[in-house]
Amino acid sequence: MIDTRYMRIYERLLGAYGPRGWWPVTPPGETVPRYTGGPRTPRQRFEVAAGAVLTQNTAWANASRAIERLNTLGAMSPAAIRDMDERALAEAIRPAGYYNQKAKRLKILAAFFLEGGKRSRAALLALHGVGPETADSILLYAWNIPVFVIDAYTRRMFGRLGLVPESADYDEAQAAFAGNLPRSAGLYREYHALIVEHGKRACKKVPVCKKCLLKTACALYLSSGKRTSIARSG
Ligand code: SF4
Repeated sequence: MIDTRYMRIYERLLGAYGPRGWWPVTPPGETVPRYTGGPRTPRQRFEVAAGAVLTQNTAWANASRAIERLNTLGAMSPAAIRDMDERALAEAIRPAGYYNQKAKRLKILAAFFLEGGKRSRAALLALHGVGPETADSILLYAWNIPVFVIDAYTRRMFGRLGLVPESADYDEAQAAFAGNLPRSAGLYREYHALIVEHGKRACKKVPVCKKCLLKTACALYLSSGKRTSIARSG
């Protein structure tokens, strides 16, 4: 039986925040990624994949700065990254942090794209430095394949809502969304972006529950004993 709360939460978030416009990619002739409807060209799809690696363990703003620097150097393509000296690549992406590690990962990703690697989760997970969240971000946002991306915001928020147990592993959490939502890449893209938005605005490490638009559906907020302390923390 489908749990309709997943869809109702989506609708409530969408109603409050509107479409988030994710994932930003660099339009032709520009250097800064911005949302224009998602990737349309092979180069833009590679940029999404590179962005998924660059944003590992850092905020998108830092990854975006690294992408801008690669664009300025004319280096945002699989061939350019393959041909670039690894130390120069690391220097170019320095704003994204872990730049030596990420330079290696970008080189591996570039080789994968140049070899025409299979568009599958298994193929991506076989690449060094690509875990489930990165792989699913590439599948969903670069290739339009309907897989739900699970990240720290999703786990925190849906754990508190009482929908996905904190003990659930990545695949179990993902299955909860897949089992309770229509299979749609567009829906999954928007929903993930809305979760991130709500995680930044309200369901933070210390949640701001008082004004949360989901509080009437939130197990943590409604649970006795914790309600007072959470409300005070807002
Ligand atoms: S009520 Fe609080 S804990 Fe629940 S979803 Fe909202 S911000 Fe998060």
